[in-house]
Amino acid sequence: MNFAIEDSPQQGAFRADVRTWLEKNTPAGIAHSADPCDMTLEQYRIRRSLGRRLGEMGWLYPTLPKQYGGGDLDAEKTVILYDEMARIGLSLPPYYDAGGRMGAPTILVWGTEEQKNRFLPPICRGEVRTWQLLTEPSAGSDLAGIKTTAIRDGDAYVVNGQKVFVGSSHGADQSWTIVVTDPKGERHKNLSWLMIPMDLPGISVVPMDLLATGGEGGSGSGVKNSVFFDNVRVPAQNLVGGENNGWKVATTHLEIEHGGMGRLADRRVVYEFLEFCRERHDGHAIADDPDARAELVEMFIEAEITRLFALRNHWLSHTGQPRSYEGAQYSLRRKLSGLDIASRMLRIAGPRVLSKDPRWGPLEGTVEYFQRDAITALHPGATTDIQRVIMARRIGVGRREREQAGTVR
Ligand SMILES: Cc1cc2nc3c(=O)[nH]c(=O)nc-3n(C[C@H](O)[C@H](O)[C@H](O)COP(=O)(O)OP(=O)(O)OC[C@H]3O[C@@H](n4cnc5c(N)ncnc54)[C@H](O)[C@@H]3O)c2cc1C
Repeated sequence: MNFAIEDSPQQGAFRADVRTWLEKNTPAGIAHSADPCDMTLEQYRIRRSLGRRLGEMGWLYPTLPKQYGGGDLDAEKTVILYDEMARIGLSLPPYYDAGGRMGAPTILVWGTEEQKNRFLPPICRGEVRTWQLLTEPSAGSDLAGIKTTAIRDGDAYVVNGQKVFVGSSHGADQSWTIVVTDPKGERHKNLSWLMIPMDLPGISVVPMDLLATGGEGGSGSGVKNSVFFDNVRVPAQNLVGGENNGWKVATTHLEIEHGGMGRLADRRVVYEFLEFCRERHDGHAIADDPDARAELVEMFIEAEITRLFALRNHWLSHTGQPRSYEGAQYSLRRKLSGLDIASRMLRIAGPRVLSKDPRWGPLEGTVEYFQRDAITALHPGATTDIQRVIMARRIGVGRREREQAGTVR
């Protein structure tokens, strides 16, 4: 029985176009290391150059409207584009741009027309890379408890405070940042979002050297930083969504971060690991062993279910269907299945899979990196506990009214 899903003629034609374009436009020197902590400045620059080429096609942020530099692609073509990037070991964007990935669609919902025209095209063209600055030393899960202030002074907001756990290395052009604009205001009614140019005087970035993790396809955040603001004057026109309306803006940002639009990153390492287990060495393949085969099947099912949850959320959001707990459900699953898959890999192939030495470990360290990432991935973008809390609120556990999912388009 064949369960493979085949492209329609139109989908097939688009896939062929994307593949040909990528063959022609992917820079020759691009490295496909999974570990973003290994990304040199030179590699980062190569990836940025691919980003700009993708941007010219509207493919860097393919679902955003063409008028702001996106591709206006429908849900199916977007999936094909992500598939084809993954086929050559890259993510979309091909570098970490969390602030763009979540900030741009949020600005689309909450920004004025002038702000959409000012902020979105440079992000979509790949000219601007944006970090997201939310977490503070005393506010992570309880994001509404942040303390960084932005006080209006004439035509600027003066920002003071500290953000932590901010990915990644090689700097950012702008930071998409949640701040307190009314220190005496009621909780949830005292916050705002600012897009902050990172070259303003008074900003310093200090790496948190003991924390270096990532994400798949080289898009991950790698190195983490503290970002300090010392009397930074940010143009008032950079405040998005209205002063003290930031918690509402946050519901969009967080919905996207928690997976409400799906994350089309693939589980390439799973497929490569399966291939490795099928390979014969001295006449023997790991997959010959019935116990290993059973684990491999379970591992594959885990990866597929997570991928299908992501596809479902992608479809729900892009076709404007009603949504509730699905973002948090997918996120919780992705985190837990990542850990499950990582431990199965160790059980199946033994500790040698952790070696970067090709004589011992398969895939030159990808599996080692996957183990590390699976553990740390439980925490960012809301922990597994918080995903459970969100799901409970959305289905009305302990509440008179069910909490609504954030608006994503
Ligand atoms: C790899 C990595 C990358 C990150 N990247 C970024 C980034 O780029 N930008 C950024 O702004 N932040 C980033 N973060 C920060 C991340 O968003 C926070 O770490 C996360 O939101 C949790 O906050 P916290 O660390 O303060 O933990 P806390 O909120 O202090 O939580 C501690 C523990 O208590 C549990 N807990 C807290 N509240 C509840 C509750 N109500 N019910 C049940 N359990 C609860 C949590 O699940 C956790 O186990 C990153 C973090 C990591 C680890």
